[in-house]
Amino acid sequence: MRSVIVVGAGIVGLSTAWFLQERGVEVTVIDRGEVGLGASWGNAGWIAPALTLPLPEPAIFRYGVKAVVSPSSPVYVPLAADAKLLRFLAGFAWHSTPRKWRANMETFAEINKWSVDSFDVLADGGVEDRTITADPFLTGFTSERDRQGLRHEFAEIEKRGGEVDYELISGEELRALEPAISAEVTHGIRIAGQRYINPPLFVRSLADAVEARGGTIITSTTVTDVTDTGSHVSVEVDQPQAGGASPWELQADAVVIASGTWFGALTGRYGVRQVVQAGRGYSFSVRPDAVPEHPIYFPAQRVACTPLGDRLRVGGMMEFRPADAAPDPRRITTLVEAARPLFEGVDWDAREDEWVGSRPCTADGLPLVGETRSARVHVAGGHGMWGVTLGPLTGRIVADAMTGGPRHPLLDAFDPLR
Ligand SMILES: Cc1cc2nc3c(=O)[nH]c(=O)nc-3n(C[C@H](O)[C@H](O)[C@H](O)COP(=O)(O)OP(=O)(O)OC[C@H]3O[C@@H](n4cnc5c(N)ncnc54)[C@H](O)[C@@H]3O)c2cc1C
Repeated sequence: MRSVIVVGAGIVGLSTAWFLQERGVEVTVIDRGEVGLGASWGNAGWIAPALTLPLPEPAIFRYGVKAVVSPSSPVYVPLAADAKLLRFLAGFAWHSTPRKWRANMETFAEINKWSVDSFDVLADGGVEDRTITADPFLTGFTSERDRQGLRHEFAEIEKRGGEVDYELISGEELRALEPAISAEVTHGIRIAGQRYINPPLFVRSLADAVEARGGTIITSTTVTDVTDTGSHVSVEVDQPQAGGASPWELQADAVVIASGTWFGALTGRYGVRQVVQAGRGYSFSVRPDAVPEHPIYFPAQRVACTPLGDRLRVGGMMEFRPADAAPDPRRITTLVEAARPLFEGVDWDAREDEWVGSRPCTADGLPLVGETRSARVHVAGGHGMWGVTLGPLTGRIVADAMTGGPRHPLLDAFDPLR
């Protein structure tokens, strides 16, 4: 395989392009917008194996039911759900039983053995922006009962051969590490061995590395169709381009569709039946008087905080609405009200970078990665809550599989035709 077109310049598409280059393939990445401005922009940037768990789980489904009657819930399902959303929710409920969750955990335990290493391969190969070690990663709770919930998840990881290096700490110990945390937070856990990135910087750096190695990145161009002609793939675009049989198409030996939450528009005709539903999240940044130096997670409130230079990014929410719908300011208000009691010394009105982005969620919580019905059309999407963590791993296993390298065992669990 000499040439591959990658649709989507998010962390998944760019990682795929980079690992294909490692294996000697000429790559062209096409994005309908700019590099890294999809879900890969305003997320929390955690590479946190201790927390990389299946999204469909019994507790979130209870949230979902509650959300139908309470628009201020951190998980929001609109009353006027369309057919696609109903199909997704039915599948999501089906996979949210304790038995299914435990089965998915087996796969996530395997995923977590591989995800962090793939970032080191990028760093060793010259991607300049680096992961940051969270020393330590902190979680905060307002009760022992809430803390038990996360300890239970760690116990499940350990039962499956995974390891979480953690220590229980008091609210005071938490505040000694992060003075911005308020007295409402009475219990904590410090977790070792986790990392994080500054998402916009990291994705830009990955794109620079792809270009420095001879790859082409075409922006502001939407891929409208992908055709396997029998000898190559023809990728139809909405902007004229040089080099194809017509100005409206580009050709290559194969294509990888890594178009995030918009994935279904191009993959259906290649046998991918799983719904990819936008699970929209919101974030903004603030500048606390004492800017935290560690990522901090408040699981019960579903508030995720990441230090980004001299600011703290605060993110959360799971809103099942169409990816391109306008942002709903009520979600930002809900996020502010959830975060406010957890911190001191923050001017919550001085928010910057308010953002909404769509996690590409599948009903079973596993990504869709690998070959489709066509050997020339591959997909890499549906990473939901964990596309940053899994992006480089995904790129690596897709590139290996497409170029005759070792077939990674995870490809069976990620089968896009399941
Ligand atoms: C609030 C929030 C916090 C999060 N925190 C974390 C975290 O801490 N850790 C973690 O691992 N994950 C996290 N995630 C999830 C993570 O952000 C996503 O899973 C990941 O960014 C998905 O990457 P992607 O490359 O698949 O999609 P995207 O980044 O959305 O990229 C897809 C790209 O495809 C392009 N595209 C779409 N259709 C077309 C087309 N037809 N033609 C051309 N281009 C097209 C889009 O413009 C876009 O740039 C979070 C998400 C949210 C919302």
